[in-house]
Amino acid sequence: MKRDRSAQLHEEAMEVILGGVNSPSRSFKAVGGGAPVTMERAQGAYFWDVDGNRYIDYLAAYGPIITGHAHPHITKAITEAAANGTLYGTPTPWEIQFARMIREAIPSMERIRFNNSGTEAVMTCIRVARAYTGRVKIIKFAGCYHGHSDLVLVAAGSGPSTLGIPDSAGIPQSIANEVITVPYNDIDAFAEAIRVWGHETACVLVEPIVGNFGIVPPKPGFLEAVNRIAHEAGALVVYDEVITGFRFCYGGAQNLLGVEPDLTALGKIIGGGLPIGAYGGRREIMEQVAPLGPAYQAGTMAGNPASIRAGIACLEVLRQPGVYEEFERLGALLEEGIRRAADTHGITVQVNRVKGALAVYFTDRPVTDYASAQAADGEMFARFFRLMLDEGICLAPSKYEAWFITTAHTEDDIRVTVAAVDRAFAALAK
Ligand code: PMP
Repeated sequence: MKRDRSAQLHEEAMEVILGGVNSPSRSFKAVGGGAPVTMERAQGAYFWDVDGNRYIDYLAAYGPIITGHAHPHITKAITEAAANGTLYGTPTPWEIQFARMIREAIPSMERIRFNNSGTEAVMTCIRVARAYTGRVKIIKFAGCYHGHSDLVLVAAGSGPSTLGIPDSAGIPQSIANEVITVPYNDIDAFAEAIRVWGHETACVLVEPIVGNFGIVPPKPGFLEAVNRIAHEAGALVVYDEVITGFRFCYGGAQNLLGVEPDLTALGKIIGGGLPIGAYGGRREIMEQVAPLGPAYQAGTMAGNPASIRAGIACLEVLRQPGVYEEFERLGALLEEGIRRAADTHGITVQVNRVKGALAVYFTDRPVTDYASAQAADGEMFARFFRLMLDEGICLAPSKYEAWFITTAHTEDDIRVTVAAVDRAFAALAK
């Protein structure tokens, strides 16, 4: 597949946009480098690049595009919003309607605030938890990504009772000192961290189903234990549902799993493809936030009518009967197809899947935490990624990212994809 124009545009981009991309995960650094594919059109389950090649899209823009690209119902909502003014700086009726829709779906979000990104939503949850508890430290789980604010770009120390190290230049050690990182799905490590730091911990931050080192569900009882142990220590539980919100059911992973946090962060899907974030939780906790309380959070763009109306339209599509059942059906077909191809060609893979989100790891060990995801073969993934690209299948350029099926994908798309996986595995086996 020729991608000359992509290569040329990447050269041009490098001269003016730092690194040629507006978010580092879009670069091909993790898959051996070179020019990323520059896309110029997207419709339904498909992408077209600047060289005219068509791809079936499983990137889904890292998660938001759950109804496929340019869904007519969402496009109409955005167009109507644009024609009536894109930003008011005043309350609007749509934000009330949307907040009600979200609260009906996720009852733990008794009071809600909209902002502009998942990063902002999580960052503010931490501030609110600190304001409410009067404590400073946070506990998070290794490999979970919670946006790019200082506190959450902190990696694990050498054990559950040690403090974090900054993951990025520009983050002071004094901030990393307030973060404890423990392995996901390891309740003993979490209990140990709480034993040492519990009395100083404002909140524990968790992806209820991990979407940032592939797809990793919690072990039975893990989230329940996190809740119990955190609450016994007087710490709040914050669910980062930026990826999981409205992905596996019409609500959060919390609805699917039957556990409730004190605060929830949302983003991605709830914007229908436009920028958005939202956070919310128990009323008395949320009442810490200005203008009612002393914790400050604000935003010129927050609750803008275009994002809100696109979000309403997106949820209207998702609440149609059968949507999540179809994700399960197509997801199972894709998973089976990948497993069959792996068996046929003697390729060792783990496939983790929840409904229409799945991850393929080149490793012989089950992936249950970040360490087991890290152990997957990155070079093998890089070769697989490029073979799939040449088959016209667009995956995220990283062994840590999930594949997302959208409402626009058809059984035929899955069949085409499985055939491509089969040929790619055959090539990898050589
Ligand atoms: N939390 C999670 C779980 C995420 O996956 C992401 C983004 N991948 C974020 C927060 C940050 O969201 P945003 O990129 O919208 O700032």
